[in-house]
Amino acid sequence: MIVGILKEIKVEENRVSMTPAGVEVMVGHGHTMLVEAGAGAGSGFADEAYQKAGAEIVATPAEIYRRSDMVIHVKEPQPSEYDLIREGQIVFTYFHFAAAEGLTRAFIKSRGVAVAYETITGPGNSLPLLTPMSEVAGRMAAQQAAKYAERAQGGRGILLGGVPGVAPATVVVIGGGVVGTHAAQMACGMGAKVYLLDMSLERLRHLSEVMPKNCFPVMSSPATIRELVKEADVVIGAVLVHGAKAPKLVTRDMLKTMKPGAVLVDVAIDQGGCFETSRPTTHREPTYLEQGVLHYCVANMPGAVPLTSTAALTNATLPYAVALADRGWRDVARSNAGVREGINIALGQVTYRGVAEAFGLEY
Ligand code: NAD
Repeated sequence: MIVGILKEIKVEENRVSMTPAGVEVMVGHGHTMLVEAGAGAGSGFADEAYQKAGAEIVATPAEIYRRSDMVIHVKEPQPSEYDLIREGQIVFTYFHFAAAEGLTRAFIKSRGVAVAYETITGPGNSLPLLTPMSEVAGRMAAQQAAKYAERAQGGRGILLGGVPGVAPATVVVIGGGVVGTHAAQMACGMGAKVYLLDMSLERLRHLSEVMPKNCFPVMSSPATIRELVKEADVVIGAVLVHGAKAPKLVTRDMLKTMKPGAVLVDVAIDQGGCFETSRPTTHREPTYLEQGVLHYCVANMPGAVPLTSTAALTNATLPYAVALADRGWRDVARSNAGVREGINIALGQVTYRGVAEAFGLEY
């Protein structure tokens, strides 16, 4: 197959969909790799590194779309690309169609084949191409909390781990899934006292077995949250209710009971946020104060660490890219139910229920 790696053109997106190491693997499988000039620059990979791995550097996205059987992106195609997608061409990327009607209709019209990272499923209904970004965001949440707890950043002026003779900070993590567990691990590693809340007793049992001694897994309830936020120096929001907006678990009234300068990190902001006072922020202006409490609500946290994020994402996507290129989308979909779930639109037909329902389209 001829496979094209496109440069990301969405604002503030510095990741790239394949590393030179991934290109080398694809070339080893006999595929011709085209890489758009400068595609890896934001993630620290020069064109020369891709050439060394066996890729041809191509000047424009138009040429990549024209020559490739499959194109790979990180973010959804932008309007300037809609007319470049060809009939039968595989486009492998994050699409999030259900929230983007214009993109959905343009893709149907193109008659391409959309394989969406976000709906590919793995064992136990896991989402293997979303997990790496949750791992990044979770770990980063603790790092950002530590930074914004500093006085010069607007925080209370505390060190999460304390020092001998000085008590550590109290960190409350709401949601014990991928984001929450990684956030809690990092906060524990820094020496904080960490409460990790979840609604699932089974999950809490597992967490109490695997988490460090300074992590206290606790059943989540409005009463528990109300009590713990009073004590908290940091609250990290990491809940997810599948198919729904995040529930507002920390209310404006609760904010009044919190310590001035405490830090709230709302990782769930991409699903609407789990604090009543959250609103999306950007890496340029990540925080704002609300009732004396510092809020950090960046919707694309992994974008701040493109080197790590690119490596984490491509570790997860590469085996799928290899399979799609080796065998074609029809054959992979026939034998792999998880990949079948990833195909959202094929040859002008919506093939994913959630997308069809979002816009009343035929399915
Ligand atoms: P996940 O499904 O692995 O975990 C969510 C957890 O929340 C589950 O364990 C669930 O039991 C728990 N939960 C649900 N309701 C709860 C409640 N009322 N109280 C306590 N726990 C509750 O999901 P995840 O991968 O950890 O993602 C968490 C959130 O982070 C999602 O909204 C996701 O979209 C978001 N996210 C944001 C970014 C970003 O850059 N801001 C990046 C990655 C993920």
